[in-house]
Amino acid sequence: MAVKIDKKIKGYSVVTPEDKAKEAARPAVAPVAELPTADVIQMHERIERPEILVGSTYKIKSPLFEHALYVTINDIVLNAGTEHELRRPFEIFINSKNMDHFQWIVALTRIMSAVFRKGGDVTFLVDEMKAVFDPRGGYWKPGGVYMPSLVAELGAIVEDHLKSIGLIHDPEMSDAQRALIAEKRAAYAQLSKKNAEVSGSSADLFPEPRVADEPRVEDVEVTGEGAAFPPSATMCHKCSTKAVVIMDGCATCLNCGYSKCG
Ligand SMILES: [Zn+2]
Repeated sequence: MAVKIDKKIKGYSVVTPEDKAKEAARPAVAPVAELPTADVIQMHERIERPEILVGSTYKIKSPLFEHALYVTINDIVLNAGTEHELRRPFEIFINSKNMDHFQWIVALTRIMSAVFRKGGDVTFLVDEMKAVFDPRGGYWKPGGVYMPSLVAELGAIVEDHLKSIGLIHDPEMSDAQRALIAEKRAAYAQLSKKNAEVSGSSADLFPEPRVADEPRVEDVEVTGEGAAFPPSATMCHKCSTKAVVIMDGCATCLNCGYSKCG
């Protein structure tokens, strides 16, 4: 191979057999560093189901259903033990004593499982399901969260599950926002205490939440970190929680801090 040299030659060195040996030794190191990235397994349809999968079972108790529903989501762990370890949902089952809607439940869970196994981003399922409204009206969950339908509650469960395995991340609440909510809760507590003293009633400030307009279900489980809000609170359109109170003439959410007055 001929190379034309335009510039003045100021110095030179000869490639010795030792240099060649060094050169030969070098490439052996590089592929080792690249190996893990080349081996990453992504989720796709042809991944075989392992004999054993780990998962979680969630209980849904809806006033629309006589019996509880049990939702099981099993996960597969890809690239276990490497820096690319990833836990993804693999299949979903729903079980209940109530078999009225059996065919639709089977259809829904089979399609959801197929979507899980297809790979790619599966978080869109959450938004699709949470946007389903029951024409007969939804119901209130303990803790004051409104569920527009049973399908929406399923969506909320899938969301919780994907959060727990790290596929969905909560938008980080800033310290300032957290402080603001704490401040508003404290201010509201102060205000209620004053009112209670004036009227002489020993009002229970944050009583147990109630399922609106429904007989109290005996075995309801209060979810969330003890989030119970005043019974007079109205629904927040931002977080769907019955936690909006009027403070200083301004509607304020004690759950997410949303305020009409900014
Ligand atoms: Zn809110």
